[in-house]
Amino acid sequence: MLGQARAPVIPSPNTSFKTWPFYKKLIATNRSRRRRTTVRGYGNLIDGYRRFRANQSGPKREQWQQLAESQSPRAVIIACCDSRADPATIFDADPGDIFVVRNVANLVPPFEPIGGRDGVSAAIEYGVNELNVREIVVMGHEKCGGISAVLTGRFHDARPGEGGFIDIWMSQVDQSARAIAHEHGTSPKGHRLLEEAAIRQSMANLRTFPFVMERERRRSLVVLGCHFSIREGELWVLDEAEGKFRPV
Ligand SMILES: [Zn+2]
Repeated sequence: MLGQARAPVIPSPNTSFKTWPFYKKLIATNRSRRRRTTVRGYGNLIDGYRRFRANQSGPKREQWQQLAESQSPRAVIIACCDSRADPATIFDADPGDIFVVRNVANLVPPFEPIGGRDGVSAAIEYGVNELNVREIVVMGHEKCGGISAVLTGRFHDARPGEGGFIDIWMSQVDQSARAIAHEHGTSPKGHRLLEEAAIRQSMANLRTFPFVMERERRRSLVVLGCHFSIREGELWVLDEAEGKFRPV
């Protein structure tokens, strides 16, 4: 029967297109093809996504549908980009619980009304003024690469693309870095002290934002600082009255 084309099956005008068997089969084939398709370039990320999707039935689906309507996170967390210090993991937070801002070494620049394209200030503004969070937490961590760079001067005067962006960003804590390096060198203690100093400085800078200051004064917002020890998996919180970090 070679050369003889099969006559196309045309649905009757009364048949809904989507109930036409051929259409149903096509949808099923495409679905199974999609399932088998390997998405290139994502490494094992898509495997993780599929595990996530497989776990999204029932109440979790409803939770996502509610979250799609609005969000009401409790806190803004300012954390480092470091892959080992993920706030959602450390605080065992669900989607919608925390509003996270991440950057190198969890720094907050001071309030600068003409600062330009400042994503940190934009996120703080949104979290505080639009979402009415009750806490802003600056979370530093052990073995911070940004802190190490400024303490050792590794990228000092480097060009953008060769460490220069890190150098400029981390220059915010240059003064503390110099003082600590003078006293403790680049020892582990020096690193820890600078990690803590950067948290304190970010908290002080947060308090230069008028709307943060005002809400803290009215006690509708608190500014907090903490440090995560990767090796111990332990969180140390800053007791501002004593000026010390202690484990919780
Ligand atoms: Zn870091």
